[in-house]
Amino acid sequence: MTEPASPSTNSSVINVDVLIVGAGFSGLCMGIKLLEAGMNSFLIIEKSADIGGTWWENRYPGCACDIPSHLYSFSFAPSTEWTRMYPGQQEIHAYLKRCVEHYGLAPYLCLNTRFQEAVWDESERVWNATAGDGMRVCARVLVSGMGALHVPHYPEVKGLDSFKGPAFHSSSWDHRVDLAGKNVAVVGTGASAIQFVPQIAPHAGKLCLFQRTPPWIVPRLDFAISEKWRRRFRSIPITRRALRQFLFWRQEFRVFGFLGNRTFRKMVEAIARRHLARNIEDPKIRAALTPNYQLGCKRVLVSDDYYPTLNRSNVELVTEGISEVCPHSIVTRDGVERPIHVLIYGTGFRATEPLIGCRVVGKGGVEIHEAWGKRMSAYLGVTISGFPNFFILLGPNTGLGHNSVVLMIEAQVRYTMNCLKLMQSRKQRILEVRPEIQQSFVDEIYRRMAGTVWQSGGCKSWYQDQSTGEITTLWPGSVVSYLRRTRSVSPSDYKITP
Ligand SMILES: Cc1cc2nc3c(=O)[nH]c(=O)nc-3n(C[C@H](O)[C@H](O)[C@H](O)COP(=O)(O)OP(=O)(O)OC[C@H]3O[C@@H](n4cnc5c(N)ncnc54)[C@H](O)[C@@H]3O)c2cc1C
Repeated sequence: MTEPASPSTNSSVINVDVLIVGAGFSGLCMGIKLLEAGMNSFLIIEKSADIGGTWWENRYPGCACDIPSHLYSFSFAPSTEWTRMYPGQQEIHAYLKRCVEHYGLAPYLCLNTRFQEAVWDESERVWNATAGDGMRVCARVLVSGMGALHVPHYPEVKGLDSFKGPAFHSSSWDHRVDLAGKNVAVVGTGASAIQFVPQIAPHAGKLCLFQRTPPWIVPRLDFAISEKWRRRFRSIPITRRALRQFLFWRQEFRVFGFLGNRTFRKMVEAIARRHLARNIEDPKIRAALTPNYQLGCKRVLVSDDYYPTLNRSNVELVTEGISEVCPHSIVTRDGVERPIHVLIYGTGFRATEPLIGCRVVGKGGVEIHEAWGKRMSAYLGVTISGFPNFFILLGPNTGLGHNSVVLMIEAQVRYTMNCLKLMQSRKQRILEVRPEIQQSFVDEIYRRMAGTVWQSGGCKSWYQDQSTGEITTLWPGSVVSYLRRTRSVSPSDYKITP
């Protein structure tokens, strides 16, 4: 066993067995499982100043998960201490920090280090990576935990750069900007916006909320978990396990609606419509907030305070498209100009373009984006033909619309570990998925996707590739089916060579 690689950046080459990029749920899970398997020659490089990924970057007011944390956490590192069903960013970030400490990951972390490029060296059979300020890493295995919801998406609107006031994306919230009494424009009404709008509306002078498409929203039903229950979770572990099981099956059951079951979808639609009717007084606003596509086509959101916020006298829901952003105002297509002091983008992320800004060059000098062409793909969302010993966590078609993605991350890490163990047991160094296996998997995915609400629900969403309209981000099935597919590695799917 080797010592942990030095986390310092210098011009000499660091040799490790496994290079992990990203220190969110994915990268940390991979590190933990390597340590548990006694493989400690690895390094986790992370471009941010702290670990946590999503839960470090997104520090906007009201940021929280929308899957209960008793499920949205590692199965092998349960916490009895969640204070709410849907805890906020700080609590989830603190949980991940505790995991780093508990599993002793700190010596393997290299923060403030941006991964730039990895090139497969065919003669040495290693990945040569460059990162940070001239750091060079040579690794036999490369694991991407770079996240899917990570690079901000900005709308294509005339004059965006001409705005003279403070402007920022929800994922890089500028807490120095005082919103008190200001005219605040929020562009977008997705998962992040519906969390921060209720938080900032009471402080803003006026809040103009620019909506392109209304989301389907169901009640959140969040509540505090009392100390009595936390004590119970601590002293009777089966209660916590039972809660996790209950939450898992409750979420898992929802997949039927997404996969095409109309009765189930109509039932949830009725709940969402009732939620809207109960909370919005003005029939015109209610109409503007009623989606005209099938529930589930875009991410179904959960909130109890978003609709009531739209009843406030200082909040205006603007459904007219933006025609231009000016230095101190926003003009909509109907010619109305609204003076704006602060501009906040709640416009989500470039989810269908993974590995943005990085180069991964595989066999024959082929760059990964070139290999993907129009459509990104990976076998089981993890391995890619032409890119030996490269594993992507939360890769193409492995996101979820109905359950916790931490379950998918754990499955992928388990699968990756099984690949590494397979190589070890066969005393081989290289593992590469066969192209025909990847292709037949991709064909199956798109066959199964055709009947789902994501593909045929009548909306445009961030799940879809912007150019082809195909769903390249989601797994078209249940978590259980994915767990079954990734439980073991079939050696015949791979070329395993010395
Ligand atoms: C606001 C928000 C709320 C969410 N809520 C939920 C939820 O309730 N339930 C759910 O299932 N999912 C939710 N998600 C999805 C969430 O992203 C995943 O659940 C999970 O956090 C993904 O973990 P990850 O480690 O794969 O990616 P990330 O958390 O995105 O971590 C990726 C890490 O890689 C680093 N990185 C990226 N590029 C480089 C580079 N070039 N060099 C070095 N480091 C790099 C990033 O800095 C980051 O730290 C939410 C996402 C957002 C944005």
